[in-house]
Amino acid sequence: MRDKVRVTVWNEYRHEKRSPEIAMIYPEGIHGAIAGFLRTQPDIEARTATLDEPEHGLTSEVLENTDVLVWWAHMANHEVKDEIADKVYWRVLNGMGLVVLHSGNLSKVFRRLMGTACSARWREAGEKHRLWVVAPGHPIVEGLGEYFEIPHTEMYGEFFDIPRPDELIFIGWFQGGEVFRSGCCWYRGRGKVFYFQPGHETFPIYHQREVQRVIVNAVRWAAPVSVVNFRDMAEAPWFPEPIEPFASDQ
Ligand code: ZN
Repeated sequence: MRDKVRVTVWNEYRHEKRSPEIAMIYPEGIHGAIAGFLRTQPDIEARTATLDEPEHGLTSEVLENTDVLVWWAHMANHEVKDEIADKVYWRVLNGMGLVVLHSGNLSKVFRRLMGTACSARWREAGEKHRLWVVAPGHPIVEGLGEYFEIPHTEMYGEFFDIPRPDELIFIGWFQGGEVFRSGCCWYRGRGKVFYFQPGHETFPIYHQREVQRVIVNAVRWAAPVSVVNFRDMAEAPWFPEPIEPFASDQ
């Protein structure tokens, strides 16, 4: 692996431009806040990209030089061009890690990687979210306790229409009584995907220490491992020569 994990933090960057209240919480945008705490880690370098940049800031050159893509989206999922979503999808299958935050569950990229609707129940009432660690040996919970709480957030509840996670990391409980699979891992091709529910834009959630810790840990977990001469996942069909001679040839 490289010395540093190269992260691109992608944000649609619409709420912060339209709402002064949200801009007060995230003066540099949600992407700026996330990149800011990632950059305090000596083993991580972070850049940002946003929806309104050419190619949404996700050119082939940017994607080729990204080890882990962090994705925040909410109101503009439908504005992401299909060809860009397609490029991100294949890049994940070829090894790029993907950390999907909050309403990114409804993004084109996440839905395609999951193959389901990825929809959930939701309620915006500023209630408490308690996240229980259910995989205490997993690297994503490094440094956490048995649970942590977000004092005010938007509720997401089951049924969350995702394929069964390869690893379930957090079960979330909300004050109104709902539960949610708030942190889930999947493997797709050579890539790793982590979905993490916290991050509603009207609360200072990405300034919270435990949330930052989870995202830093998730970036390290999702970083690609080096593989030698592995085929491009977009190549199909694929007819290899036999590695061993067949018995009838001997
Ligand atoms: Zn929200």
